[in-house]
Amino acid sequence: MAIEKEFTLTIQDVISDKLQVAIESSLSRNQILSSYRILRKSIDARGRTIKINYKVAVYLQGETVPPSFREREFYRVNSSCKRVVIIGAGPAGLFAALKCIELGMQPVVIERGKDVRSRRRDLVSIHREHRVNPDSNYCFGEGGAGTYSDGKLYTRSTKRGDVRSVLETLVQFGASEEILSDAHPHIGTNKLPGIIESIRNRIIELGGEVHFDTRMVDIIHNGKIIQSILLSDGRMVSADSYILATGHSARDVFQLLNDRNILIEFKPFAVGVRAEHPQSLVDTSQYHCDARPDPLPAASYSLVHQVGGVGVYSFCMCPGGIIAPCATEQQEIVTNGWSPSKRNNPFANSGIVVPVDWSVMNDFRRYGALAGVHYQRAIEHACWQAGGSTQCAPAQRLVDFLERKKSTSLQQTSYQPGVVPADLNSLLPDWVSSKLRGGFEAFGKKMRGYVSDAAMLVAPETRTSSPVRIPRHTELLCHVELENLYPCAEGAGYAGGIVSAAIDGERVAMAILQKLNE
Ligand SMILES: Cc1cc2nc3c(=O)[nH]c(=O)nc-3n(C[C@H](O)[C@H](O)[C@H](O)COP(=O)(O)OP(=O)(O)OC[C@H]3O[C@@H](n4cnc5c(N)ncnc54)[C@H](O)[C@@H]3O)c2cc1C
Repeated sequence: MAIEKEFTLTIQDVISDKLQVAIESSLSRNQILSSYRILRKSIDARGRTIKINYKVAVYLQGETVPPSFREREFYRVNSSCKRVVIIGAGPAGLFAALKCIELGMQPVVIERGKDVRSRRRDLVSIHREHRVNPDSNYCFGEGGAGTYSDGKLYTRSTKRGDVRSVLETLVQFGASEEILSDAHPHIGTNKLPGIIESIRNRIIELGGEVHFDTRMVDIIHNGKIIQSILLSDGRMVSADSYILATGHSARDVFQLLNDRNILIEFKPFAVGVRAEHPQSLVDTSQYHCDARPDPLPAASYSLVHQVGGVGVYSFCMCPGGIIAPCATEQQEIVTNGWSPSKRNNPFANSGIVVPVDWSVMNDFRRYGALAGVHYQRAIEHACWQAGGSTQCAPAQRLVDFLERKKSTSLQQTSYQPGVVPADLNSLLPDWVSSKLRGGFEAFGKKMRGYVSDAAMLVAPETRTSSPVRIPRHTELLCHVELENLYPCAEGAGYAGGIVSAAIDGERVAMAILQKLNE
């Protein structure tokens, strides 16, 4: 049996590889170290001296070292099994498909976008030609919105076992084992596509189906169950159950549900801007040093401040990252961020957002459940116009935003389609910009250099979470009206992020099996 021990090392200790020495000197004279495994690694940069905390499993001579995790076993399925149509191949859809196979059901995955490699060409076309393919972009395509992301894998989900199982599955399909021990694991945009491709190949090898370039365009139901769905290529598809995992940007799906009298509800979400700083500024501030010492990763931040009872907060911070153009339609600008696995880009970016609910939605009430979609769209379209009706985004120096004046010159940025000077105060609803100003002023006091000439804002950040909830039964997880429809993960309002979406995909697959077995 391994002995679990905890150690705290300084950066110098880490550079000189002192963990093993520390472990050995913690053993008694008759204990001989055979090997050790890092179970948890975290950085404590709160004080002047940065500490690296380790929790390790120590194996003594004569002990067998178990594998770091148990690989999931899957058995073949075929068309004689229960059939589950999964709409959307994001993390939720892919993990739901794996779970279906594990449980002996045949998944049929329908994805409007392209496979993960072909999808890249459409991203380049957004950057270079300012052309947005409405079916293949940063949000749509194999792997979903999380594919070209930082691949941060932390979640507020408290179900540790479930989180661990998702991380282990990612390792099984090619992610580094380090994600199992890092306190803030992330994969990186360069590594995610390979992992997603392996998951898809496995689903197909095991008898599942995956259909790319295929959009669900209609739902046929009788008020109690879905009878079939219509695909963009004209095919009608029927199944025992349907998992709707189409993400927070599939506005046509929200519209379709509304048009077909399938209950959906307005859901609060958050909007704001993306703030960008030189990574060196964030490193200096967070690590209290002039230059980041070698073993430390690019520093991140997490900021929050209450302005008039409303929390202004940082969202999806990408150290050493790039601001991505995440529009899903032609006449809109949407920003988000990604990082390569090494997080070695010279910029750090983060969404800075404010929650919005019915109380600020007055002009949009006429849209009912779709009010949030129209609110987002109005901001995104105004920013598109301000950017010259291209994918160039409106931008402003942070100091100018606080003084409400258009910048005369802009900082360099990682946002590849380009930026255009604008006063973002006039592009965002007054309520949002005033709260953001209050938040930024406070952040400037909390973090050295945060409000400085080096800081720039790029707008807008609107797709933080779904503006719609698709209500489902709390235990059965099926839609409150249609008993074989399973609203799933982020688009339905039950997840926020890669890991929680994957967990929800698995939960829904398990709920389906339970229902079909009754
Ligand atoms: C640039 C970027 C960076 C991000 N960074 C991170 C991060 O670091 N960490 C993190 O945890 N989260 C991150 N996120 C958020 C994360 O990607 C999402 O929370 C997650 O992908 C949601 O998973 P999902 O499966 O619910 O939906 P999605 O990933 O949105 O997948 C939905 C899928 O459904 C498909 N679809 C939509 N409509 C239809 C239709 N009608 N027919 C067929 N298919 C359809 C879409 O093409 C898409 O592939 C990021 C998002 C973006 C855009």
